[in-house]
Amino acid sequence: AKSTGNSPLCFFDPQMQAQVRERSEIDAGLRMALEKQQFLLHYQPQVDDTGQIIGAEALVRWKHPEQGLISPARFIPVAEDNGLILPLGHWVLETACQQLALWADNPARAHLTIAVNISAKQLSQAHFVDQVMEVLQRTGAPAQRLKLELTESALVHEIESIIDKMNSLKMHGVGFSLDDFGTGYSSLAYLKRLPLDQLKIDQSFVRDISFDANSADIAQTIILLAERMKISVLAEGVETQLQQSALRERGCHHYQGYLFGRPMPIEEFEGELLRR
Ligand code: C2E
Ligand code: CA
Ligand code: CA
Ligand code: CA
Repeated sequence: AKSTGNSPLCFFDPQMQAQVRERSEIDAGLRMALEKQQFLLHYQPQVDDTGQIIGAEALVRWKHPEQGLISPARFIPVAEDNGLILPLGHWVLETACQQLALWADNPARAHLTIAVNISAKQLSQAHFVDQVMEVLQRTGAPAQRLKLELTESALVHEIESIIDKMNSLKMHGVGFSLDDFGTGYSSLAYLKRLPLDQLKIDQSFVRDISFDANSADIAQTIILLAERMKISVLAEGVETQLQQSALRERGCHHYQGYLFGRPMPIEEFEGELLRR
């Protein structure tokens, strides 16, 4: 493959060509998928020190008729580029809120929260606050149980207007978690101005925590930062007991990861709730 320097010939790199083809296939497929309702949500448990499930992160999947379940890592970036993230994100929010409304009627489930990933495009919409409030009202989901996960990259542009939106939703009880914390290029300067409820320690720091001093120090710093900000901290990508105990020793008491459960269909998640 020609991949040398700045030659325009690199456009004919077969690997790149394959990537471009895959993207346009996904692009076309996504439009159809929305109409045909080929998306579904998986729920991944979030647990406390005792192993009790305190909530779930909702993660979208594309149930492709031929290819089976397609990972969001493959189609979310495309949906962000072609704008389909707006209707798709709306569907995710609505589906998660329907679930919250069901749980709210069940005393054994009413404490559970659902975290929903919100991409930058959604957040920058002028009517974002109204949309979220409309979905909450229509579904009957309690705002206090909804947590919106934002990444640092969603906070780079129009920060003043985003802070306003966050404050409006927060007044209604909606919570905010900062996803993949430490991997973006955000500045600590505005961190204190964001009405956050949670920092999420990225899985890249969790992965190496028990054998890499730098990762352990970064995790420790995030935990102390959350403590100072009087907000909670949750570690994602926890796969081993060793990682969990390294986190617990450093003051983190909320976890998410394969050690506690993979993202799963709602029926399985309900089964997990009963089993524990
Ligand atoms: P994310 O928000 O950082 O979600 C966590 C990802 O880590 C999920 O991948 C989850 O399945 C995976 N994960 C959870 N526990 C472990 C673990 O112990 N080890 C490892 N190695 N991985 C773990 P998933 O479901 O493939 O989602 C990938 C990304 O796609 C998400 O990363 C998020 O950025 C995006 N995404 C997923 N659903 C949505 C959505 O509804 N809206 C938007 N805007 N983005 C979404
Ligand atoms: Ca997330
Ligand atoms: Ca994350
Ligand atoms: Ca991530």
